[in-house]
Amino acid sequence: MELQNSKQLFRNALDRHYAIGAFNFVNMEVLKAILQAAEENKSPVIVQCSTGAIKYAGIKTLVAIVKSIVSDMTVPVCLNLDHGKTFEDCKNAVDAGFSNVMIDASSLNFEDNIALTKQVVEYAHSHNVTVEAELGVLAGIEEDVSANKSIYTDPIQAKEFVARTGVDSLAVAIGTSHGTHKFKGKAELAFDVLAEIEKQLPDLPLVLHGASSIPQEEVKLAEKYGAKLTGANGIPEDMLAKACKHNVCKINVDSDLKISYTAGLRKYLTENPDNVDIRKYSTAGMEEITKVVSHKISNVFCSKNMAN
Ligand SMILES: [Zn+2]
Repeated sequence: MELQNSKQLFRNALDRHYAIGAFNFVNMEVLKAILQAAEENKSPVIVQCSTGAIKYAGIKTLVAIVKSIVSDMTVPVCLNLDHGKTFEDCKNAVDAGFSNVMIDASSLNFEDNIALTKQVVEYAHSHNVTVEAELGVLAGIEEDVSANKSIYTDPIQAKEFVARTGVDSLAVAIGTSHGTHKFKGKAELAFDVLAEIEKQLPDLPLVLHGASSIPQEEVKLAEKYGAKLTGANGIPEDMLAKACKHNVCKINVDSDLKISYTAGLRKYLTENPDNVDIRKYSTAGMEEITKVVSHKISNVFCSKNMAN
């Protein structure tokens, strides 16, 4: 299959009340592990890289690897730029072959966010690429994205924002948080705010960032083999499953994959101290990622068997 933009993927997700996992990758190993889970579960999937991942691996390399693997797949795959901060970030991704881009101008004021988002939408749409934007502020830290408090998305502003930018999907702030240490107390998603946004924008695909659940069995596995992740916590999966029944069509997962890959790698290296075969320990990390992605697809996002 060829790469898909988000349009039909989100249409199906809205109509059938599931969400599509958007999983971050930085190299071939993580990418292959994610795509294997999607193919096995006959699920649509979004793979995404941040500008940091692009700096690490190179944009041409990343796109070439994705396109090459996807050409042999039967499920729809969308390649997204995660947190583009400038018009140039997004233009470079469109030109390189991404099928969806996110412009995150949420740190700008409302009018400047609209102006920059609109500029990206015009360029991307003219190349059949769809666009995600963000309104509101998420707590936590994700690479260059940082904010020390969470400001929920204003539903009335969201309606105006979408009308004036023509954006295809919107990342909303309803209490999720970037990073591996999301909360001091109990996690709480503002479902009342979500319902209010849906009332204003009944047909708009919504996106949750910072939505890793930090599976404690993976944390324990990593810690058993030497990792130090004290206090790592995430969004409970039942809350994410509930959000999927709303208009949330895309749920971002990054930290969960980092933890599970690290856990698999650490276990293998500890148990096989004489091994220096890169393929063997990488495979151990990849297997943990495939397991976690399969679980999300099957039991949390409910996108299993939704590829057709
Ligand atoms: Zn994010």
